[in-house]
Amino acid sequence: MAQIIDGKVISAQMKEEVKQRAAKLAAQGTTVTLAVIQVGNDPASSVYVGNKKKACEYVGIRSLAYELEEDTTQKELLELIQELNGRGDVNGILVQLPLPGHIREEEVIQTISPDKDVDGFHVQNVGRLNVGGEGFVSCTPAGVIQLLKRSGIMIEGKECVVVGRSNIVGKPMAALLLRENGTVTVCHSRTKNLAEVTRRADILVVAIGKPKFITAEYVKDGAVVVDVGIHRNENGKLCGDVDFDSVSPKASYITPVPGGVGPMTIAMLMENCLQSAERMAR
Ligand code: NDP
Repeated sequence: MAQIIDGKVISAQMKEEVKQRAAKLAAQGTTVTLAVIQVGNDPASSVYVGNKKKACEYVGIRSLAYELEEDTTQKELLELIQELNGRGDVNGILVQLPLPGHIREEEVIQTISPDKDVDGFHVQNVGRLNVGGEGFVSCTPAGVIQLLKRSGIMIEGKECVVVGRSNIVGKPMAALLLRENGTVTVCHSRTKNLAEVTRRADILVVAIGKPKFITAEYVKDGAVVVDVGIHRNENGKLCGDVDFDSVSPKASYITPVPGGVGPMTIAMLMENCLQSAERMAR
């Protein structure tokens, strides 16, 4: 039976560390500050924004909430971002996605200063990740690396298979595993014989967006399985992209859903804000 990688415990450790570093900066006169922009009132987005605010409060990061009307124009949103880009007291800017249909999301993301892009979505940060420079990394895949490292799992030299190639999860995940000297394969919807490829993995990271898609036949004995997926079934119960019940007897380590990758995303957001403030204070 696999050992559980406990994202709640590991994210709590990380938040404690951030809290201490934020207190140290505060003692030197810097209040770490994150600006969170939400356009409209999509209920799921409101929950995510609320959770981010709570985490900020807990670690001692000041959060500035910008709750904009659904009919906010592209120009108004870009002007707000530009104003925040210019403010010396703002270390991170986060625009909650998805944005309403009339807003061009890509332009919004690229308007955030790369130095305050704590989500790690700006092309400059994506580029820095791929050429090995210092920059912000997308929070979810960065959280997966922390889960592995803090569970004592070696990445170097391992066969790592990532299922999913989104800009937010799959691609940065692959780049990070490569940076840690894993041997990386990326799979997607056009991959042939998916199970044959995933069965090669010592470390299998799944970000497909399909509930319980990965069953035991996709997994090698003793593999480490990381489930990024998150779904709510009709009874309100959460599950991932991995069929936990069939896979966990085969795996050596596995992340549960909930309580695996999910809590790490916000912990990494806090870490990114802190890093930004530390850089700005230098
Ligand atoms: P996307 O829908 O953007 O990407 C899904 C990827 O999976 C695509 O690359 C797609 O391939 C691939 N895919 C789809 N079907 C198959 C298949 N049958 N076989 C192989 N590959 C397939 O999703 P995200 O990356 O944004 O998210 C993935 C999951 O992770 C979701 O469940 C999401 O809710 C969750 N998530 C969780 C987070 C957390 O904090 N825990 C944060 C972000 C996401 P192709 O490119 O060819 O279409």
